[in-house]
Amino acid sequence: MLAPTPNLTPRLLIRMGTAPKDKVAAIREAAQLLSAAGCIDPAYGESMLRREEVANTYLGHGVVIPHGMVDDRHLVRQSGLAVLQVPGGLEWHDGQTAHLIVAIAAQSDTHITVLRRLTRLIQDEARLERLRGTRRQEDIAEALTEDSAAPAASGSAADLSQRFDWTVDYPTGLHARPASHWVETARACAARIQVRHGSQAADAKNLIALLQLGLRCGDEVVISAEGDDEAGALAKMCAAVTGLSAGEKAAAQRAAEAAARAAGPVAGWNPADAPRVHPGIGASPGIAIGPVHVLAATEITVPDEPEPLTSGGDRLHAALAATADQLKALADDTERRLGKADAGIFKAQAELIADTDLITLACQLMVEGHGVAFAWDRAVERLAGQLSALGNPVLAGRAADLRDVGRRVLAQIDPALKSGHDLPDEPCILIAPDLAPSDTAGLDPARVIGLATAQGGPTSHTAILARTLGIPAMVAGGAALLGLANGTNAILDGATGRLYLDPSAGDVASAAAWRERQREKADEEARERALPARTRDGHVVAIGANVNNPEQVPFALDQGAEGVGLMRTEFLFLERGDTPGEDDQFETYRAMLRALDGRPLIVRTLDIGGDKQVAHLHLPREENPFLGVRGARLLLRRPDLMEPQLRALYRAARECVAPGAPTGKDAPLSIMMPMITSVPEVLRLREVCDRIRVEIGAPEVPLGIMIEVPAAAIQADALAQYCDFFSIGTNDLTQYALAIDRQNTDLAPEADSLHPAVLRLIHMTCEGAARHRRFVGVCGGIAGDPFGACLLAGLGVHELSMTPRDLPGVKARLRAVEMGELRALAARACAQEDAAAVRALDTAEIGGAA
Ligand code: PEP
Ligand code: MG
Repeated sequence: MLAPTPNLTPRLLIRMGTAPKDKVAAIREAAQLLSAAGCIDPAYGESMLRREEVANTYLGHGVVIPHGMVDDRHLVRQSGLAVLQVPGGLEWHDGQTAHLIVAIAAQSDTHITVLRRLTRLIQDEARLERLRGTRRQEDIAEALTEDSAAPAASGSAADLSQRFDWTVDYPTGLHARPASHWVETARACAARIQVRHGSQAADAKNLIALLQLGLRCGDEVVISAEGDDEAGALAKMCAAVTGLSAGEKAAAQRAAEAAARAAGPVAGWNPADAPRVHPGIGASPGIAIGPVHVLAATEITVPDEPEPLTSGGDRLHAALAATADQLKALADDTERRLGKADAGIFKAQAELIADTDLITLACQLMVEGHGVAFAWDRAVERLAGQLSALGNPVLAGRAADLRDVGRRVLAQIDPALKSGHDLPDEPCILIAPDLAPSDTAGLDPARVIGLATAQGGPTSHTAILARTLGIPAMVAGGAALLGLANGTNAILDGATGRLYLDPSAGDVASAAAWRERQREKADEEARERALPARTRDGHVVAIGANVNNPEQVPFALDQGAEGVGLMRTEFLFLERGDTPGEDDQFETYRAMLRALDGRPLIVRTLDIGGDKQVAHLHLPREENPFLGVRGARLLLRRPDLMEPQLRALYRAARECVAPGAPTGKDAPLSIMMPMITSVPEVLRLREVCDRIRVEIGAPEVPLGIMIEVPAAAIQADALAQYCDFFSIGTNDLTQYALAIDRQNTDLAPEADSLHPAVLRLIHMTCEGAARHRRFVGVCGGIAGDPFGACLLAGLGVHELSMTPRDLPGVKARLRAVEMGELRALAARACAQEDAAAVRALDTAEIGGAA
C-alpha cells in the first residue's frame, strides 16, 4: 500500500505492513519508492547501500535511517522520506531489530529536520510501539511531520491561528530562566506555539530558538498557537509569560538595592573614588589587589574516534541522561540552599541539553561517521558559536552555559575528557561559581591571592578553608561576578565582602596602605603569639588550632597554637577519590601526633553529610541532608567506615600515648564524635570504641562529643555523664538553632553565631559540663573572632580552637582583658534581643574597635 503524501516537505512515502527479507532488500525497496516518486536518481540507492557498509544507520528503538553518502547528495532531486513499516521486525545489525525504516533523501538542512523529528520520536517508546503495529498510515505520517511547520528563529513567519500580543516587561529581558519556564509550559501543550518578534519567530518549545530572539525589556511580541486545544494552550502561555513579570521585576529590584547598599561606606577600608563594586559576604579577611581570573575549564582536545552508531547513540543517550540527573540534583540542592530563582540556572541548563537541534546535530555528525564525543563537542560548539555571534550579552551568557553543560556531557561520554581548571601564571583574584571544599583546599596561595565566589556562605567549608589558607575571600557575590573579563584589575576586601573593579591608582594606594597598617597590627599581635592567652587577672584559656593534616601543624604551632582542638578527618576522604584504608589513616594520625610532639590532639571521627558530600561513597541523596544521616548518625549506620578509623586511631594511641599519660584537655590524643543528638548515640559509640580499644590493646583516651544541635546543648548535663569533654561546633549550632542552612546565601547575614539564642545554648552547655567537671572547647568559626572569643571565655568555655591565622589576634585580645569583665560581658550579651545588639557591646573598654 503506497501513499504519496502531498504538500509536505520533504515528500513522505509510506508503505505499511512490509516484510523485506533482509537489510539490503529493505534499502532497495525504500530506494525504489524514492526513485519512483522522483526524489532521487536510482544511483542514490546504491549510495545508501554503500553507506550501510561503512556505518550502521540504526538510530535506536527500532528506527533505522538509511541514507546516501555525503558526496552523493547531488543524486537527490527532491527531499523525500520513504518509510517502511515492518511489524514483524527485521534483523538490522548485531541483534538490532528494525520496525520503522526511514530512508532519507535530503539536502543537509532537511536531513537535520528529519533527524530532529526522529530523535524526538525515539524518546517516546510507547508511541513507537503503537507505530510498529498500527494499520493507519496517518499515525506514521503524523509522527514524522508533527513539527514540520515549526519555524526556527530566523526568517519571517506568519502567526498561528490564535494569538495574544505582549510587551516584554522583564527588566533584564528574556534570559534563560524565564525562557525555560516558557518552554516547560509550551511543551506541556499539544498545540504548536510560536513566539514572534518583528520578522523573527521561534518555536516556543525550543529554548535555543527562543533565546535567539534576544528579547529585551520593551520588545513587542506576538505569541500564537495552533492545533489541539489552541485556546487553552494560549491561555496557559499567557499565564506563564505574564505570571513571571512580578518575580522578574522583584529580582531586578533586589539587585538594584544590593548595588545601592554596596555603594555605602563600610566599617573597614573604603575607596575614595567610587569604583564599581560587587557586594558579597566577607568570608576570609584581608585585602587582595590584582587582576581577576574567572575560573574556566581548560581547553581539551576531543579525538574523533568513530564507532558504530548504535553504541555511540547509546553512549550519548546515557551521557545525556546522567547529565540530566546531575543537573536535577544540582537544581534541587541549589533550590534548597539559595532558592528557586538560582536553581533555575540548572533547570535552564537541563533544557539546553534536551534541545532537539543540539541532539540532532550530534546524531547527524555521528551518522556521518564521527565519534560520539567528537560529534557532541562539535554540535555544542556550533550552536554556542551561533549564540555568541549574535552580539547579545544575554545570549553570550547562554553560549557559556551551553559550553559548560556540554562539558558535563562530554565527561559522561568519556571520563578521560573531564576538564581541569587552568590558572594564569600571574597571581590573580580567582572568581568561581562556587568551589568544592577539595578545590579550595588545592589552591596555591601564591597564585590565588584572593577568592570571590558567586555562591556559597561564610560558614561553608570553602570559606573555612580560605581562612585556613590565609586567602582573602568573599562569597555570595552573585552570578554577575562570572561575567567579569579576565584581567580586570580589582581590589578584594575579604573582611567587608566587596570586590572593587578598575580602582583608581589612588584607591589602590590607599588599599595597600590599609593592608600595611593591618599587617603592622598583626605583627604586633604576632610578636606575643607564643605567650599563653592569660587574662590580666591570671585566668588561662587553652588555645588550639583547627588543622587537618600533619603538614599544617608547624605553621599552627608557629602561630601560637598549644595543640590541635579539631582535626576534621573527613578531608582525608574528600581530598582523594577513594576511601583511605586503616593503614593510611594510621600513618596520618601518627604523623599528626609526632608533629605535635606531646601537645594535645583532638581527632574528630568522620563527619560526612550536609555540605560535606563524598561522591565516591555513593550515599543516597536526601531531601534535607543537614537534617539527615550525617555525623554520628552515619557512623553508626556504617561500621565499614567507622571501625577502620577507630582501629587506626587506637593503633596510633598504642604507639604514641604512654600509659598513664595525662587525660582531659592535656591528653596527647582524644577522640571526638560529631553531631551528637542523644545519650543512646553516645553509649553505642562508646561501646564500639571500647571494644576496638581492647582488641587493639590500646590505652584509654578521652572520648568527647561535639555539641552542635540544640538538643545536645539542652541535655548537656545528661550527656556529660557519658563522655570526657565537649567541643561546641558553633557553625552547626547556629545553623540548627536559627534554622538557617549554613550555605544559604540569602540568609547568611542573619546566621550570626553571636545571636543571643546561640549564646544561651553555649551557656547551658558550659553549665551542664560543669556539673560533671567536664571541660568545654569551642571549635566553630566564632572562636577565631577576637570579640567572640571574649564572650565564649566569659560564658565559661575552657578552650578555643580556630584557624591558625586567627590565633595571634585572639590571644592578644584575651591577654588585654580581665575574666571578671568577660563574665559580665557574656551575661549582658545573653540578655540582648538580637545579634546586632550583642555586637554593639564590642567597645574599646574590652579592647574592641569602638
Ligand atoms: C561546627 O559545626 O562548628 C564545626 C566545627 O564543625 P564543621 O564546621 O566541620 O561542621
Ligand atoms: Mg559541625
